[in-house]
Parts: sequence; structure tokens; C-alpha cells
Amino acid sequence: MRMSKLLMPTLREVPAEAEIASHQLMLRAAMMRKVAAGIYSYLPLGYRVLQKIMRIVREEMDAAGGQEVLLPIVQPAELWHETGRWDDYGEEMFKLSDRHQRLFCLGPTHEEITTALVRNEVRSYRQLPLLLYQIQNKYRDEIRPRFGVMRGREFIMKDLYSFDRDEQGLDESYWTMFHAYQRIFDRCGLKTRPVEADPGAIGGNQTHEFMAIADAGEAEIVYCSSCDYAANVEKAECFTPPTDPVGREDPVVEVATPGMRTIEDLEKFFNRPASEMIKTLIYRGGDQVAAAVLRGDHAVNEIKLARAIGCLEVELADERTIEEVTGAPLGFAGPIGLKGCKIIADPAVMAIESGIAGGNAVDVHLQGVKPGRDFTPDAVVDIRKAQPGDPCHCGEGVLQGARGIEVGQVFKLGTKYSVPLGALFTDEDGEERPLIMGCYGIGVSRTMAAIIEQCHDVDGICWPVSVAPFHVDVVPVNYRDEQQREAAERIYQDLTEAGVETIIDDRNERPGVKFKDADLIGFPIRITIGPRALADGQVEVRWRATGEEHLISLSEVVSHVQDRITRAIADSKSTSRG
Ligand SMILES: [Zn+2]
Repeated sequence: MRMSKLLMPTLREVPAEAEIASHQLMLRAAMMRKVAAGIYSYLPLGYRVLQKIMRIVREEMDAAGGQEVLLPIVQPAELWHETGRWDDYGEEMFKLSDRHQRLFCLGPTHEEITTALVRNEVRSYRQLPLLLYQIQNKYRDEIRPRFGVMRGREFIMKDLYSFDRDEQGLDESYWTMFHAYQRIFDRCGLKTRPVEADPGAIGGNQTHEFMAIADAGEAEIVYCSSCDYAANVEKAECFTPPTDPVGREDPVVEVATPGMRTIEDLEKFFNRPASEMIKTLIYRGGDQVAAAVLRGDHAVNEIKLARAIGCLEVELADERTIEEVTGAPLGFAGPIGLKGCKIIADPAVMAIESGIAGGNAVDVHLQGVKPGRDFTPDAVVDIRKAQPGDPCHCGEGVLQGARGIEVGQVFKLGTKYSVPLGALFTDEDGEERPLIMGCYGIGVSRTMAAIIEQCHDVDGICWPVSVAPFHVDVVPVNYRDEQQREAAERIYQDLTEAGVETIIDDRNERPGVKFKDADLIGFPIRITIGPRALADGQVEVRWRATGEEHLISLSEVVSHVQDRITRAIADSKSTSRG
């Protein structure tokens, strides 16, 4: 490719709309342009990167037994009514109607379409397991599209659906995909960590998210310093180590606490740590009201709380509800004497022997409160949000915190879609049974952004060789100089013939401009042809990521670079896990 002909409008300024590195660099390095909020066009360089990621995904999906299909983006409402998701999906679904007022949506996901296909075409256990996948655009009408393709409204996904005859088959499909995902991200040069995640609204019983560790990530994860445990904080279990009770039996004493509403206020006022405070938060979930009781230094995990009271989601109750339940305004709730609500206590709070709690009256707190003696919870379950520094259940390590970008997810669905859609097969005994399903997604465009988050510096992107738009940028310092031009053209042609993806900077630009663009776009190798080295029959070979530089003779440069690129690609395959 010749740079003089390439649509490559790089930008020197950081676009104001872009907050994170990947978004800034995808615009600045001419990878993409915005069309509308959360909707982008990929330019030639960006599309080359996407195609490389897609090729790696395809190779690994095929190797894992997947069969590629292409399903429609426009999906009829009827199928979504069969699973009840037409209404459940909410505002995120792009809905449209045709000229006959028939309703359709732009596919946010393809469980319905795939399951309907399989119910019509698969009859027998002999056809199982079946793994179907596609790589295609998905649509979600995000309320606040941001971070470029990280949270876009149109994005590219690989989605695979597995159909098995039983749980054991599903388990095999699940772990086959899990290991394929590890290989895909390794080959893309992306450092990921699989974490246990919450099945949430999609339903199902087991799921892992693949998190690319990056400060720009929207997900909070915790992982153990000692064992393999890693989880999304939404899911992370909290372990409460057993303690030996001292057997304190302090009396409950009312204390006047004028204006003290927060844990920090109380810490100062009583000169006691937050871990000795008993925090009571009033929540509403469906038609229920519940008091979440936990230690002052702990936070509520609302997903766990919702599950504990058996509803889909919870939210903090409004002031009127709080007054009805506690008899006091916001800020003085305590677990003793609540009316008309369940008490859900976290195990850690039950270990407090003499705590400070709200008094359910204005400007009153209680000292000497002992859970179990002074109030009896309706349930004692883990409702707390894991935080860095917590002990791990392995008993050895301490949880560490990190932020992650979710680039993939594997999911055991079971019969969640096959039962409502009637996707059945006949087993050996002639009996009809529902198919057991799994679904497995990779955000392809998001993977591209995640790679940039992990592989960039102040000058621009540092692409891993396996996904770089071109491997080598050949830069004659002065293209108008005949000697330099001839040497550069020969290297460019020889490398291209040797199968190395090469671009030549044949623009009549100053060397500084060429070098800046090379660093910004992030070609792994730059070969500079300058007058001084050329006088000695040499050129400069520089690695973008490490800054490593060598002078190599003209006669050897092609084989040297070809060898290094081939080895880098081979390494990315062989060092991948599984
Ligand atoms: Zn551990």
C-alpha cells in the first residue's frame, strides 16, 4: 500500500468528544469517524485491524467445532413475543415497522433467531452437539453512548450458540468455548482475566466474563492474591471469617446525636470505627420493603439483595416509605422496632457484639446493640459488595481490585429459550426433550478498543503484530531523493512479495510528519531510509513498542524483518493458553 493513496486523515489535536485513550486514538490515527452518537464508519486502517481480529476469532471458533452462519439483522417481533423479551428488553431495543405496520427490531442479540432456526431444522440427538456462530453488527439504543466503540449503539459481535442434549454436553461446550476465548484474546495480544459473573436478566446458571484489565474499564473486578478466584464485584461472594465471640452483653443505651446522619459523623462522635456501626438501609423491591443491615464499613450489593428478597431489582426506598417503616426521617434508621418490612442481615454484621445503630427517632442512636439479641433478622445472607482488602474464601489470599473492559462472555442458558420457543429433539428412547443451550459472545469492535487501551503510549498506538493494520512502514526520509526512493521501493516490493504486509510512506512530507504518523498509527516496525546510513549501505529498523533499533544492511533487511514478523505471529499462536 502507498501512503500517498491511502485514506488516512490523521489528526494532531485530541478530539474534544473523546475521553479515553482508545477513543481518542481511533479518531486521531484515522481508524474511524463518527456518523452519529455511538455509530461509526471504519476507515481502511481500522477495518484492516477489525478483519484481523475477526480472522483470529473465526479460526478459533472453527477449530472448536463452530459452524459459521449469517443471521438477519432485522428480526420479526413475533419471535421476541414467544420468549416475552419484546417487552422485557426495554428502551435499548431499536424497534421499527414495515409499510404494512408489521413490527421488527434491529437485532440486539440472536437467541430467538438461532433457536427458531434450530427448532425447525434439528430433530435428533444424532445432530448434536451443534455450535452455530456468526460475526455481525448488533444494535442497542444505549441511553448514553460513550467511549467510542466501547459503548456504541452499533457494534460488531461474534455470537455462538451451542445446542446440546444434556447438562454434561453443555458443560463440554462451555469449557471448549472458555478455552477458545483464552486463545483468541492471547493471539490478539490482549491480557484478559476470566471472572465469575452474575447471570442477571439473561437467566441461566453459570457465566464468566473475559475482562481486559484497563483503567478505562467500566467493570469493577476483584481477584485473589493467592488462588485463581476472580469475579465481577456484582457477583463476588464475600467471605466472613468466623470469629470467637467475647460474650459481651452491654445494655442498649439511647444517645442523643443531634444532626449525626452519616457513618463518618458517627465515627467522629462516638470515636469508634465504622466496622462497629450497624448500618440499616431501607429498600424497595417489587411490592416489598426490606431493611438491609450490614456493617458501617460495608456496602450493599443490590443484585445480591434483590436475590435475597426474591425480586428482579431493588432500589433505595423514598423518604415517605422510610418514615413509615422507621418512624423517623432519613438518616436514623436502625434494626430495632421496624414495622412492615423484612430484615435481611449480612453475616459480618452478626459478629458485632456491641454496636452503634440508628434509633428510629430524630437525633437518636443506640449504643450496645447486639444483633441476634436485640433484633432477629428474617434472613442472614451475603448481601455485601466485595471490596479490595477483603479476605478470600480460600483462606490464604486477600482480594485485589482492578477495572476491566468486558470483551467476551460465556453463558450457560439451559432451557431458557428452547422451552418457550419449543426447540425439541428426540433422544435414543424416542422421547422429545428441550435442547440445552449456551451462548458465547465476543465484542469484536470493543476488543479492538481494549487492545489500544492496553497497547499505547504518549505518541500513539503500539499494535501487537497479530492485529496491526500493516506490519512494516517503509519511510524514505526524503522521497524525492533518487537513491532513497530506489532503496525504499525495492525494500517495499521485496517485503510485499515475501508476504509481509508493508506500507511505504511515499508522501512528500517532512520526516517529522512521517515519523509522527508512524508512531500514532502504531505499525510494529518502521524501516527508515536516511542519507547517512544509506551511504554505508544500511537502513534503520525500529520496533514501535519497545523502541529497539538496529542498523541493518540493505542486502539483509528483507530477510531480517520477514523472519522477525513470522516469528512474532508464530509466538502469538504458540504462547496462547489451552
Ligand atoms: Zn483465594
